[in-house]
Amino acid sequence: MLYDEHLDGALPRTDLAELVDALSAIRPPLELLSSREELTPYECDGLSAYRSPPLLVALPDDLEQIGEILNICRRLGVPVVTRGAGTGLSGGAMPLPQGLLLVLSRFKGILELDAERCLARVEPGVRNLAISQAAAPHGLYYAPDPSSQIACSIGGNMAENAGGVHCLKYGLTVHNLLAAQVLTIEGERLSLGGEALDAPGFDLLALFTGSEGMLGVITEITVKLLPKPPSAKVLLASFDELEDAGRAVAEIISAGVIPAGLEMMDRLAIEAAEAFVHAGYPLDVSAILICELDGVEADVTEQCARVRTVLERTGSREIRLARDEAERQRFWAGRKNAFPAVGRLAPDYYCMDGTIPRRRLAAVLERIASLADEHQLRVANVFHAGDGNLHPLILFDANQAEQLERAERLGARILELCVEVGGSITGEHGVGREKINQMCVQFRAPELEHFRAVKAAFDPEGLLNPGKQVPTLARCAEYGAMHVHASNLAFAELERF
Ligand SMILES: Cc1cc2nc3c(=O)[nH]c(=O)nc-3n(C[C@H](O)[C@H](O)[C@H](O)COP(=O)(O)OP(=O)(O)OC[C@H]3O[C@@H](n4cnc5c(N)ncnc54)[C@H](O)[C@@H]3O)c2cc1C
Repeated sequence: MLYDEHLDGALPRTDLAELVDALSAIRPPLELLSSREELTPYECDGLSAYRSPPLLVALPDDLEQIGEILNICRRLGVPVVTRGAGTGLSGGAMPLPQGLLLVLSRFKGILELDAERCLARVEPGVRNLAISQAAAPHGLYYAPDPSSQIACSIGGNMAENAGGVHCLKYGLTVHNLLAAQVLTIEGERLSLGGEALDAPGFDLLALFTGSEGMLGVITEITVKLLPKPPSAKVLLASFDELEDAGRAVAEIISAGVIPAGLEMMDRLAIEAAEAFVHAGYPLDVSAILICELDGVEADVTEQCARVRTVLERTGSREIRLARDEAERQRFWAGRKNAFPAVGRLAPDYYCMDGTIPRRRLAAVLERIASLADEHQLRVANVFHAGDGNLHPLILFDANQAEQLERAERLGARILELCVEVGGSITGEHGVGREKINQMCVQFRAPELEHFRAVKAAFDPEGLLNPGKQVPTLARCAEYGAMHVHASNLAFAELERF
């Protein structure tokens, strides 16, 4: 499934000695890494089945250095891949063998935290969780909470429009940003957004959110901080039938309750998480739902009662209310550690990320199970059920090339299934290199042409993160002819390329 950049024509060759010479002239001096041992830790992001060391790694310490690096790369025609913490799961920060990897992990400053205006202005390398930790003494927090929040950077969150378990109620990254500063490849500093609720002109802040390092380098972000809800309660419901759990998700929302989080795990994911973190999950069930309700105490109590009624009506075998904060944290720890927990079941796992309409949950899970059987691979499901955001985890052994290929084929079919039922090929992990072929299934030629035009407006030479996110039409024609499932409606469009 992975995109092969050679299909779209060769990228420019880079003269390493010339690049190192030019970068070495930057003052104050810049740390550069180029030996095999130094490059190895940077050869992949969280999509670790695919690796390729960069030509050179640059670790700037200040903004001026970033500007100069971009100027030099532009002058010499060197492709640049920006990296935050490298936890991305779609190969967005995967380096190019002929390119520079611009690592922003040293930009860890919280520049301003204003409790009165409920905002924090931070550098891009600040960890997601560090923002909430800094805001906690003021009774505030930053709402989007990817499960990787102890490690991932806010710059990476903005570039991927990251989600998390609490995004059902509080929105994705894009809904929680106020402003950002970016540097274009041409060295221009752009100020995007602001504190006002509306702003004149195009919404470039939203455009840069989810742009996966393709339009510019994000150098500063102002995020909204929210008051910590006074009360939060978690219900853990177990089901004998996946279908009933899927129905419960749709009915909770249609009953007018928007939980702070509504997550589902299937049997394999439950068993893995329980063995890993001992969260207290039941083991002999087909699915669990974790439903968090937050707000003022009286509302939370009333919403808990409504959710309980729905869960009973939809056939939940057992419903448990977390008795105290420690048990609430344990229930979440199982979910938040589900990826590494599932990682213990096989040498490798491949985390998919697609979105479907909530009412199709049960049918899609059933279809995923039969696709897994067809491909003779095991799949664990753990996902943001309230958002319809699936994360099937395909278990395989990368040492056996044939298994990796099967996992890729199964992953591609799952994503295309999401499109077939009216959903999308990504809910929060982005497209990167991983899903670039499926962009051909999701979008029609005119839409892809507009994406490419936007990219060209900011980066005319195509030096920022080339080969990611937006496929060429030639690539789509080739992929369409070779792979796209005939039942996909968008397929007809591909024939026009
Ligand atoms: C165990 C685990 C659980 C996860 N759970 C979630 C989850 O619940 N929700 C979710 O949304 N994601 C999740 N992820 C995926 C990942 O953590 C997010 O995509 C995160 O936003 C990536 O941040 P990062 O700093 O690691 O970015 P990186 O991986 O370094 O980069 C990601 C992309 O952003 C670009 N980029 C990074 N920084 C900048 C910048 N300053 N300017 C311009 N472009 C930039 C890169 O070029 C790349 O395209 C999970 C990952 C793991 C490993």
